[in-house]
Amino acid sequence: MRKQNKQQLKWIYSIASGVLLFGIGAVIWIAASTSIVKDVLPFLDPGRPSTPAPVKICLDAGHGGRDPGAQAEGRSEKNDTLKIAQKVQRILEDEGVDSFMTRTYDTFVPLQERCDLANGEGATMLVSLHRNIGGGTGIEIWINSKPSEEEVLLAEGIRHELLAGTAFNDRGVKRGSYDNPSVSLKMNGSSNMTSCLVELGFMCSEEDNEIFDSQLDEIAAAIARGIIKASRMG
Ligand SMILES: [Zn+2]
Repeated sequence: MRKQNKQQLKWIYSIASGVLLFGIGAVIWIAASTSIVKDVLPFLDPGRPSTPAPVKICLDAGHGGRDPGAQAEGRSEKNDTLKIAQKVQRILEDEGVDSFMTRTYDTFVPLQERCDLANGEGATMLVSLHRNIGGGTGIEIWINSKPSEEEVLLAEGIRHELLAGTAFNDRGVKRGSYDNPSVSLKMNGSSNMTSCLVELGFMCSEEDNEIFDSQLDEIAAAIARGIIKASRMG
C-alpha cells in the first residue's frame, strides 16, 4: 500500500513538472516571437544583425557660377569648395555611404534651392563646405543657434578629425551666424536635418592656402571620417 502511494506520487510529480516545463517553454516562445520583445531587447538575440538607420549625406559645395564667394590671392572660394566636396563624395562612395551634391560643376544655385534639395531628397545630414576671409587662420564650424545633440556631435567630430589629420589651426565650433549667435546661417536654419557649415581656412592666408593645396586628400578624408563616425552614432 505504501509502495503504491509512492508510485502514485511519482506519477503526479512527473505530470506536474511536464506541464510546468511546457508552460515555461510556451511563455518563452511567445515572448521571443513578440515584436516588442525583439525590438526592445535585441541583445537577447545576438545572432540577429542590428539594422542601421539609413544614412544619406548631402554635400554642399559653397557658392558657384556668378557667385565666386571669397576671392583672394588669385583664387575663388567656389573652386576650392567644389574641389573638396568632390573628393569627400568619392570617399563616401568608396565607403558605401549614400551621398549627393547640391552642385557638381561651376553653377549658381541659390541657398534656398540647396536647402530644398537636401530636404526633398531626404538627406539625414548636410555638410556645407566653405572657405573663410577677413583675417585669421584655421578652421571653424558653424551649427544652428540652438543645435541638436547630433549637430554638436557632427561638428565636433569633423573638427576633431581635421585637427588630427591636417595642419589647420582651430577656431572652434560656433553657433548661429557671424554677427548674431541667435540667428542660424541659412544652410543650417533652412535645412531639416543634422547640418553644419565648415570653413576650411582663410583664403587671405598664405599659410591656410598652402595647407589647403598640399593636404587636399587629408582634408577630404578627415571630413569624410567625421561624417561617417557621426552617422554611425545617430
Ligand atoms: Zn563661403
